[in-house]
Amino acid sequence: MSKVRYWQKDIETIGRRALEELQLKRLRSSFGRLYRHVPSFREKCRAAGVSPAAINSLRDIAHIPFTTSDDLRAGYPAGLLAVDRNRAIRLHTSSGTTGKPKAIFFSKRDIAQAAELVARCLTMTGTGSGDVLQNMMTYGLFTGALMMHYGAEKVGALVIPAGPGNTERQIALMQDFGTTAVHILPSYALYLATFMQQHGMDPKKDLSLKRAYMGAEPYSEKTRLKIEKLFGIDVYNCYGLTEMNGPGVAFECLEKNGLHLWEDNFIVEIVDPVTGQQLPEGAEGELVLTSLCREAMPVMRYRTRDITRILAGKCPCGRTHRRISRILGRSDDMIIVRGVNIFPQQIEQVLMGIRGVAQNYQIVLESLDELTIRVEIARDMFDGNIEHLLSLKSEIVEKIRSAVLVKPIVELLEPGTLPVTEGKAKRVIDKRTI
Ligand code: AMP
Ligand code: ZN
Repeated sequence: MSKVRYWQKDIETIGRRALEELQLKRLRSSFGRLYRHVPSFREKCRAAGVSPAAINSLRDIAHIPFTTSDDLRAGYPAGLLAVDRNRAIRLHTSSGTTGKPKAIFFSKRDIAQAAELVARCLTMTGTGSGDVLQNMMTYGLFTGALMMHYGAEKVGALVIPAGPGNTERQIALMQDFGTTAVHILPSYALYLATFMQQHGMDPKKDLSLKRAYMGAEPYSEKTRLKIEKLFGIDVYNCYGLTEMNGPGVAFECLEKNGLHLWEDNFIVEIVDPVTGQQLPEGAEGELVLTSLCREAMPVMRYRTRDITRILAGKCPCGRTHRRISRILGRSDDMIIVRGVNIFPQQIEQVLMGIRGVAQNYQIVLESLDELTIRVEIARDMFDGNIEHLLSLKSEIVEKIRSAVLVKPIVELLEPGTLPVTEGKAKRVIDKRTI
């Protein structure tokens, strides 16, 4: 294994018992502050019969009521703030919603802490002074770009705050300043590679990239491998959400085998998405997170809707914080066709492993029993030989059928046909009206 580097070695390799003592101390303090300062939360706790005095061990967390995104929306704009409004120095909102967003406040200490966590993540994957990090995430209300920016500056990298889009300019910046690392959406990384190829460039030879940080939307292992191969780089999975600071909640180390979740800052639980019951370690379910260090707006037992599991065993990198698997999907992204539950990522996993499939695809649902997949395929597949196209099409149909148990209708498209978004990709077009 290559050289392991730590940002805060003591805390990253802390023993389990000391970590749990720290978690309990911080849980009691965060819960207590929220209980004292947020009346709606206090009422909810009273109704559930739990008060700070009842938290005597980490197991007692199960008595604390969950916080859902509806609770956060109900508290809009500032109902769940646990400090005086003047102590908050930053506001972010969480994406992917209709109607009122969720407003998340940060104190000065919260911003510094978020940057610390990102600094741990970047150091762990080899980014530091001497690196040039081009940040292609959206700067603004979304935490993705800003928190990564702060963490990257902290480790001494040169940060290019490029934001998303304007692909020609992105490439020019990467070439002119020797960008070694990018923070990028997986869907945009795929688009960038297509764009370069279409303009006669080789993403592997014409850039000096070493690594990419990819998160903000679910993607499959096959997509990671495809992007690594296209650019000749290492791709590290980066997970986070606004309610818990933004990026850097959980991050892959050089092993690329699960994401270390910083347990000194968050308590992790996996629950049954339907019943809310805690599941045993290793079981797949919904990730529930409790923030332990957030000052302006601590959040207890937040139902993330993200599906994952805790990975067993020690990581060879020496970090003791447990790892979660890549996010398998969101419980609210799951689609049901002919009564079968399907996560879009299962389809992506199949597509990205097939030779001849290009970078973009879309899942279209028109009725309850029909699954249509529109797939862009490599330009060299349109070589005038219809046999090649037909055999690619039946390979896609068969492989998806065996992965998700529903036979799809597959449409093959030329590269560049499907729309590309600047933000998180919209892979599923659901035209069904029920
Ligand atoms: P936001 O609060 O707008 O940053 O959105 C957070 C959500 O983005 C998470 O709850 C996940 O659903 C998704 N997300 C973030 N990072 C990843 C990742 N690495 N893999 C899959 N989904 C992710
Ligand atoms: Zn590790």
